[in-house]
Amino acid sequence: MTAESASEIAARVESFVRQVVVPYEGDPRCGAHGPSEELVRELRTKARKAGVMTPHITGGGRHLSQRETAKVLKASGLSPLGPVAVNTMAPDEGNMFLLGKIASSEQKARFLAPLIAGDARSAFFMTEPAEEGGAGSDPSMMQTTAMYDRDAWVINGRKTFITGALGAQIGIIMAKSPDGACMFLVDLPNQAIRIERVLNTIDNAMVGGHAVVTIDHLRVPPDQMLGAAGEGFRNAQVRLSPARLSHCMRWHGSATRANEIATHYACRRRAFGKPLIDHEGVGFMLAENLIDLKQAELMIDWCADVLDTGVLGTVESSMAKVAVSEALMRVADRCVQVMGGTGVSGDSIVAQVFREIRAFRIYDGATEVHKWSLAKQIKRGYAKAHSP
Ligand SMILES: Cc1cc2nc3c(=O)[nH]c(=O)nc-3n(C[C@H](O)[C@H](O)[C@H](O)COP(=O)(O)OP(=O)(O)OC[C@H]3O[C@@H](n4cnc5c(N)ncnc54)[C@H](O)[C@@H]3O)c2cc1C
Repeated sequence: MTAESASEIAARVESFVRQVVVPYEGDPRCGAHGPSEELVRELRTKARKAGVMTPHITGGGRHLSQRETAKVLKASGLSPLGPVAVNTMAPDEGNMFLLGKIASSEQKARFLAPLIAGDARSAFFMTEPAEEGGAGSDPSMMQTTAMYDRDAWVINGRKTFITGALGAQIGIIMAKSPDGACMFLVDLPNQAIRIERVLNTIDNAMVGGHAVVTIDHLRVPPDQMLGAAGEGFRNAQVRLSPARLSHCMRWHGSATRANEIATHYACRRRAFGKPLIDHEGVGFMLAENLIDLKQAELMIDWCADVLDTGVLGTVESSMAKVAVSEALMRVADRCVQVMGGTGVSGDSIVAQVFREIRAFRIYDGATEVHKWSLAKQIKRGYAKAHSP
């Protein structure tokens, strides 16, 4: 039997999301801090039955190529609930990718297998509170420490914006040791990791919301270090580009769906004697949406091809992240505008997509940080080309 192609997998995911997941969009269990655990379990039971659980990782733990992943993740993103239902959501998708690349076989069996099965969720602990001068856009400002004491690493610090920390079973914690940055795999919940509060944020698609967390004398055995001591930032790079790009893929799916809803509205709703779409101002907004969506898709595919050659693709993923997040923001904003009052209401997912993509312009590197790092690259290139 020939293996199912990525297009076929994506088609199955799309039909599952449209037929099974979309009807849940108005479910009262979609709360301010993401869908409830009960709703996640219900959706995942249906995803398993439909054979679309973790569709981007095939039998034997093989990850689809980035180009193939793009097809599947865009399909899963057609509803903001889709990635949660089929286990392509952040931060688990990026964490699974990272573990697949650098975890030991024992670590994979213990921490990766339950994630791929969709039986566990995970959180990535990097960002620290701004008011304490911790790591944010600049990870080198990290204050969380890891010190070796007798038979274990002891971790102390505070983290913030930790997506899904509430309710997760697996954590990847970044801390600095005397050897440099390190990553640790931990079981959650843990008495030494206290969730202070879950922030009220503009977005609400991600399970568990985004938590402020105190880590107080957490003891981690040495075999739970992910990679080697001092290689934390280098290993974080492995996760960085694909995780950034996968956000672009999922939100491209959501923006595509928002555009379908806005188009439906503009073709049905009438004002001043004709359908809205026949007013040039509205028609042009929808035309610009098509152009932005296509350009964003091409950026995603281009960057995916670069990553599929095996390079880190840091520059390309920065370019793609800026171009796609900014384009999708324009698309979401126009969808809201085309739909008038309905666009800002909770009667469709359009307002939510607008809020989610607004947050996306900040996480995984704010637009300005990517542009700044690209400018540094340009300067280096110029200096090299013009050195005597
Ligand atoms: C919804 C959401 C989910 C998140 N999930 C996680 C998570 O699961 N785990 C985790 O560890 N973190 C997470 N984060 C944190 C995220 O990674 C940080 O918010 C991001 O890195 C920016 O850091 P900061 O908030 O401290 O902003 P700051 O570092 O204070 O930056 C503020 C602003 O300053 C500007 N800026 C900064 N540097 C430059 C520069 N060099 N040039 C020009 N302008 C600049 C940018 O406009 C930036 O938006 C999440 C954030 C959000 C909003």
